[in-house]
Parts: sequence; structure tokens; C-alpha cells
Amino acid sequence: MKFEPVIGLEVHVQLNTNTKIFCSCPTTFGEEPNTNVCPVCLGMPGVLPVLNEKVVEYTVKAGLALNCKIQQKSVFARKNYFYPDLPKNYQISQFELPICLDGFVDIDTENGVKRIGITRIHMEEDAGKLIHGENLGNPNSSYVDYNRTGTPLMEIVSEPDMRSSEEAKAYLEKLKLILEYTGVSDCSMEKGSLRCDANVSVRPIGQKEFGTKVEIKNMNSFKNVQKAIDYEIRRQISEIESGNIIVQETRLWDPEKGITISMRSKEESHDYRYFPDPDLVPVVVTKDMIDSIKKTLPEMPDKVLAKLISDYNLPEYDASVLVSSKELSDFFFETSKLTKNYKAISNWIQTEIMRVMNEKDCLINEVGISPAHLSELITLVDENVISLKIAKSLFDDILKEKRSPRELVKEKGLVQIADEGALEEVVKKVLSACSKEVERYKNGETKLIGFFVGQIMKETKGKANPKIVNELLTKLLS
Ligand code: ADP
Ligand code: ZN
Ligand code: MG
Repeated sequence: MKFEPVIGLEVHVQLNTNTKIFCSCPTTFGEEPNTNVCPVCLGMPGVLPVLNEKVVEYTVKAGLALNCKIQQKSVFARKNYFYPDLPKNYQISQFELPICLDGFVDIDTENGVKRIGITRIHMEEDAGKLIHGENLGNPNSSYVDYNRTGTPLMEIVSEPDMRSSEEAKAYLEKLKLILEYTGVSDCSMEKGSLRCDANVSVRPIGQKEFGTKVEIKNMNSFKNVQKAIDYEIRRQISEIESGNIIVQETRLWDPEKGITISMRSKEESHDYRYFPDPDLVPVVVTKDMIDSIKKTLPEMPDKVLAKLISDYNLPEYDASVLVSSKELSDFFFETSKLTKNYKAISNWIQTEIMRVMNEKDCLINEVGISPAHLSELITLVDENVISLKIAKSLFDDILKEKRSPRELVKEKGLVQIADEGALEEVVKKVLSACSKEVERYKNGETKLIGFFVGQIMKETKGKANPKIVNELLTKLLS
């Protein structure tokens, strides 16, 4: 029997507001434990939550970017469970009436574009963080840090529309990219601002009903999400083939061993005894609010990609690299206002600039070259003032000195020799010094032209205009 996997993802995204969702504590990361706290987020008796308006704005913004229908009325609910990282004994979330419904994300697959449905997006608060004593040299105790308690999250629940771990990965990557463009989260998986739970089941090919699903938690990279799903698919198939049934449960991914481990039997929603939070009024989002949030949305990556290909004539590959982060494409567009050599801008970004970004592990804005300086450098090459090779050798100086490339070229005496008379002298000199190679060239070894160009460049310290050199060589050698 052949099986088909069915996958749905639940993604928690931390919103980058300055303060928490129901109190004014800061959300700054990496503070001393239990310093970003107050009676509200510690769940003291007698306190009342007050909703942070930014959380609504950001979730609506994300919902619009993900093609959702925004609910004009949504309701916060209490999700009750008991755990030391949850001081109130309930998490404020949304249940029956979430703020966004019914969106989608288009992903690229082997068989073309596939649309993955988004069931809902709701707002909720994060819990605290438990730190177990063995990591602190004290195996008999556990510690809790409530700094994260009350940090605003949105949970994005997909439809069970994915049929392979590759599709799940593509969905996650696309989701992350879109959210990065909206700017509502830094979407860093390492920092825990984007966390993903995967629901996986398998069914015999041709069967209409879904199989029993298992939820996998604790995956902290795209690679691990994919590996965990693949492991789980194999495990479920082999259980079924051995005559066992799949039990609905929550499993943990162990990245070291590369396996999933049973954690607990899955709670049903009635286990949480959800009910509307009596301390919070329903959230009402007016049409005007939705319209004004819509106006703040930047162009989404699919649109930007199409634009780069059609309006800027870039190859699809270049366009996809530039779109892969909003900073990159913004930098491209800024530079493109100053020079029309779009392919050169793309080349510089993909070679020298991305090299520095990798070396320094930094963003494009931290590389040390501005769109103005890059366009100047490109123009210097296009006007034949310097060769591309010299431009490349100048690049690190521009970063270091943060000065205009045109000034640096002048100061360093790098202006290209484009004077035909002067160059002809050099070419003649080189050819007479290389009489053997000239002989071989005349006997048919035409690839020696590269050798001559090299010698001439050496003689002129790279400053000879390559186009004129080539013309002169062809003339003099024939
Ligand atoms: P629960 O109430 O157990 O949380 P939901 O219906 O809310 O279940 O679904 C949670 C996630 O699981 C969603 O992303 C959904 O797409 C996915 N899902 C639901 N049923 C299945 C299934 N049979 N196989 C795989 N994923 C599923
Ligand atoms: Zn607080
Ligand atoms: Mg659910």
C-alpha cells in the first residue's frame, strides 16, 4: 500500500512591539530574569489587562498580507492550563472569534504554484520561560523567568494542505518572507520570534479521510522542521504497516538523535475549558482602520519579484536573490534611482556586498556602502573612467573610508588609460618582449590573447582600458 502525508502547520510569531500585549512592560530581549515584569503580567490578584493597540494593528497588517478576511469583531478567550511558566493559570488567546480568517499563501513546487490555505490568525500572549537546574549546575531545582510572559504573539494556523516536507518548508519560508516585508516581526527562528508546530498524518493514497494526526513541537530551524516531518511520516507508515494504529499525541523533535519522542497525549480543546475573557471587551476593527492599515503595507515579495523581472529586466535568478530580503530589494531600488545599469547593481549586491554581509554576518545597511556610493562606482566603470577590476579593488577602501568613489579614484591615480596613442606604445612594447608567444599566436594559438591582455594590465597596473587594448591587439597582431 502506498501512503500520502498530510501536513498542517501552526506558526507562532512574536510581534515586535515595544511593550507587552496587556501591560506596559518592555519586550526587550536578554534582560536580567524577572526584571521586565509588573503585577499584570505576573497575574497578581485584582489587576486588569489593557490591550496594546499595536498588537491589533500588526496582526491586521499580517492578515492583509496573507490574504485573510479581517473580522470586524473578535474576542479574547481564556485558555486554562496549569504550568509554572503561566502565573495566571490561563493564557489569554482567541478561540471562537479570531481576528483573521481564511487567507492563503502561494508557494512554488515542482508542479508549479500551489495555494496553501490559512485557516485563521489569532492574537495571544506568550508564557514565561522555564530554565532547568542542570543547565545552571543545580540539578535539583528549576527556575522561571517571567520576562517573556505577556509578549504579544500571533498564531497562524494553516489548512492541512501540504503533502510533503518540502512543501511545508516552502510554506514556512514564504510565510517568513511575507511577514518580514510587513515588518511586524523580526521572524528570527534563533531568537524564538518564529516558532512552528507541525501536524502530520498519513493516509493510503486514494483515501479521502485524513488519518490521525500527530503534533510535533520543539523545532528551531527550517532544516529541523523538514527532518522532523520526514521522520514522522516514515514512523507513521511503519507503525501502520506493522498493524498498529496511530494515536493522537504531541511529540517532541530531538535534533541530536533525529527522532520524535512521545511527550503527551494530545489535549482536546475542551480540556482547556475556553471561555471569553470577562476582563476584556471584544476587539472592534472598523473599516477605516483596516483601510488605513492597508495603506501602510509595502509591496509583497511576489509583486516585487515580477517587477524586477519585467521592469528592471533582471534574470529570474537575480530577482529571486534580491527579493529574498526586504533590505536587499530596498537597497536595489534606492540605487536604481541613481543609475540605470540595473544588472550591474544586482551583480555588485550579489558579489562584493553579499560577500561582506556573509563575512561580517550583517545586514546590507551595515556593510558600509550607500546606494549613492554604489551608483557612483558603477557609473565610473560605465564611463570607462576605471575598469571593473580596479572598481573591485577599490571596494574595500570605500567601505573603510566611507568616501566618494570618484574622489578616491582621483586621489589614488586610478583613472583608466584610454588614450589610444599611449596604450599603443604599451601594447607594442609587450608584443616585442613576448616574441615567442606572438609566434605561437600566429600559428593558431589564438587563446594567447588573454595572456597578452594580462601582460598589458600588469604593465599598466590594471589601468588600461580593456576594450581599447583588445582592439589594439587585434590590429597589431594581424
Ligand atoms: P486541534 O484542535 O487539535 O489543534 P486543529 O483542527 O485546530 O486541531 O488543527 C491544528 C492544525 O493541524 C492545523 O494546522 C490543521 O491544518 C492541522 N491538521 C488538522 N487535521 C490534520 C490531519 N489529519 N493531518 C495533518 N494535519 C492536520
Ligand atoms: Zn507587565
Ligand atoms: Mg489548534
